[in-house]
Amino acid sequence: MVDLKGQYAAIKERVDSSILNVIENTAFVNGPEVHAFQKELEEYLNVKNVIPCANGTDALQIAMMGLGLKPGDEVITADFTFAATVEVIALLGLTPVLVDVDPVTFNIDVEAIKNAITPNTKAIVPVHLFGLAANMDEIMDLANEHNLYVIEDNAQGIGGYYTSKDGSKKKTGTIGHVASTSFFPSKNLGCYGDGGAIFTNDDELAHMIRGIVNHGMYERYHHDVVGVNSRLDSIQAAVLRAKLPNLDSYNKARRTAAAKYTKAFKDRENIITPTCFCDASDTNKENCDCHVYHQYTLKIVNSDRDALAKHLNENGIPCGVYYPIPLHLQKAYLDVRYKEENFTVTNQLIKEVISLPMHTELDDEQIEYITSMVINFVNK
Ligand SMILES: *Cc1c(COP(=O)(O)O)cnc(C)c1O
Repeated sequence: MVDLKGQYAAIKERVDSSILNVIENTAFVNGPEVHAFQKELEEYLNVKNVIPCANGTDALQIAMMGLGLKPGDEVITADFTFAATVEVIALLGLTPVLVDVDPVTFNIDVEAIKNAITPNTKAIVPVHLFGLAANMDEIMDLANEHNLYVIEDNAQGIGGYYTSKDGSKKKTGTIGHVASTSFFPSKNLGCYGDGGAIFTNDDELAHMIRGIVNHGMYERYHHDVVGVNSRLDSIQAAVLRAKLPNLDSYNKARRTAAAKYTKAFKDRENIITPTCFCDASDTNKENCDCHVYHQYTLKIVNSDRDALAKHLNENGIPCGVYYPIPLHLQKAYLDVRYKEENFTVTNQLIKEVISLPMHTELDDEQIEYITSMVINFVNK
């Protein structure tokens, strides 16, 4: 699904020397590399505060801790996402409220959020799923109207833009009150182990969070709040510093591959290609800036998705089903209040979605082979 080795080959010298440099300096945790990466990422995102941490799941949890959410508070998020999003809500004793998603964008459905708001609702967690920004204008309006926090799960969206109705553009992860991201190796900006970060333009919240990631300490050995140990190590920061200057070109390579896939699947009735917001005005998707294609996810309709996956695997093509089970049906997150009729979209998507190989090193020959295998099967 990804080609991390091919990507490494192109930046090997820079990465190797940065890692060696960290080893020689022995500042392994929170060293100067971490600080420099933090500054560079703040500049790249145009956000006031980046707080690096150990992984993307921690980043979400710490964002919620920083906001002071308390047991009993309800947090609304999408039924169709990676489990980490809902896991940290439950772990903190908050009440997860899963809602349906949009069948076209795969992102949280704003009407469904509206219907789920109660007097106990405190936050909304939109996920920029597969790399496409959620509907942030409407989510922010709703949040302002009901006095809710918005925590963007940007683990799959880093580097993408969201364009507001007024035409202003912001990078995903800088629109809500706070955001989280992951630097897991297969993410669009991946390190060589685990890593994550929290972003916010709120200086007070950033201060709070900087203490939480380090045992609740704001002054050495003074523990003002209950915190966690969640730090980015310097070797990972060195890798991320080497890769950050390439993030835009990495995302462009993903878009180029996506545009080729989409072109090959054009006019195939059984294959629904991913959408993005600039679809209508821009037919050349390589110029898109709202989708960073963390995954390239098709919907296979009136055909057998599982048999297609098997067919691809048998022909040496990796593929993935993200996600095969909606979160509201996962044992850990069952809730008597959920009604199946409120999850018609996710219940359908889990049967239709399939993600094809997507990374920065896909070449024309691979794309041609993959698309012809998909088309041959679905048209059979
Ligand atoms: C990867 C991912 C996470 C978790 O990130 P980790 O670094 O693996 O903890 C959270 N949310 C979403 C949507 C993700 O894709």
